Amino acid sequence: MTQATALQAPPIAFAKPCFGIEEQQAAAQTVASGWVVGGPRLKELEQLFAEHCETSNAVGVSSWTTGAFLVFKALGIGPGDEVIVPSLTFIASVNAIVHAGATPVFADVDPATFNVDPDDIASKVTSRTKAILPVDQIGLPCEIDRILEIANEAGAIVIQDAACSIGSVFRDRPVGALSPVTIFSMHARKVVTTGEGGMIVTNDEELAIRLRLLRHQAMSLTDFQRHSGSPTDFESYPEVGYNFRITDIQASIGVVQMGKLDKMLKRRREIAQRYIDALNTMPAYVAPHVPSHSNPNWQSFQLTVAKGGVETRNQVLRELHANGISCRRGVMASHREPPYQDLRVELPNTEHVADQGFQLPIYPDLSDDEVDTIIGMLEQISV
Ligand SMILES: *Cc1c(COP(=O)(O)O)cnc(C)c1O
Repeated sequence: MTQATALQAPPIAFAKPCFGIEEQQAAAQTVASGWVVGGPRLKELEQLFAEHCETSNAVGVSSWTTGAFLVFKALGIGPGDEVIVPSLTFIASVNAIVHAGATPVFADVDPATFNVDPDDIASKVTSRTKAILPVDQIGLPCEIDRILEIANEAGAIVIQDAACSIGSVFRDRPVGALSPVTIFSMHARKVVTTGEGGMIVTNDEELAIRLRLLRHQAMSLTDFQRHSGSPTDFESYPEVGYNFRITDIQASIGVVQMGKLDKMLKRRREIAQRYIDALNTMPAYVAPHVPSHSNPNWQSFQLTVAKGGVETRNQVLRELHANGISCRRGVMASHREPPYQDLRVELPNTEHVADQGFQLPIYPDLSDDEVDTIIGMLEQISV
């Protein structure tokens, strides 16, 4: 009966960018202006991020991954250096460390929050630890104050992977204001999206200057300076740089998205609360734990099955899909993937969450009726 009615309804999407006519118009206007890279829209987006994050600098790049690589390069972190990172993260976090030539050292997570366990970070510190790359998983801020203390004692820098957490709040401060360097993603799955894109925020002026140079082949003059300067002001290329630029077409979409951030956060938080209230009455599932000092942006809504392992979780995924509800397994365990299997680390909490976790649809356009349909289906699945 329920199966039949659910099948008549269109399937519920898992994730959707929150785009309207404003994003279309902004992109079209940038194209019409002819200044599509290194221009005023990028400057505007960088200013919006810097204001939001209470930092003096924001540097736009082509993705989180290229941004993280650039930060490692600019800070001189490479071969022989260790970077502590949770394995329970999108594999990009780990790959960026390897691209820079450094060695990832995996830390375990707290299974209640899915975020890296500061005690486990502390136990993994060695004389070669140069950086800690904690992740705000699913948009919930990691325990950054403890992590900063550990890093301080170790003489390492914290580079916060905030790919998922634009708009999240930790102890009344926005993510971005908490660490020496923070990197956001603007991929289509993230709360503020430009399709692809990344943003690095920092109060370190020198670092910001180097990031701006390196993203643009280390060219000594910006596009603005070349447009307004004398025709014989030639640029130079003092070191080997990269092309990690983001276009002004993307940036113009990001400007509109930043303007909608509060509205998007409000709706995501409403949906998450509805899920949490319902899950608290269902013994088959464990809702994510949110520490009282954190207010996540709910980029993703992840939960775990209370009992049974990977098979039970997979059964839930199959039943939700069969009933027109798109869902996904939860955050992956990077150390189980072929490039990292040889490290042979033991991360019991990470493996537990990777096996039992899954994610439900969450995005501003998801209606209350759809949320209720999803909750109703979870209640009916017998696991
Ligand atoms: C999405 C994501 C990334 C990668 O971001 P890109 O912009 O696609 O490079 C990195 N870390 C985490 C935790 C992510 O969720």
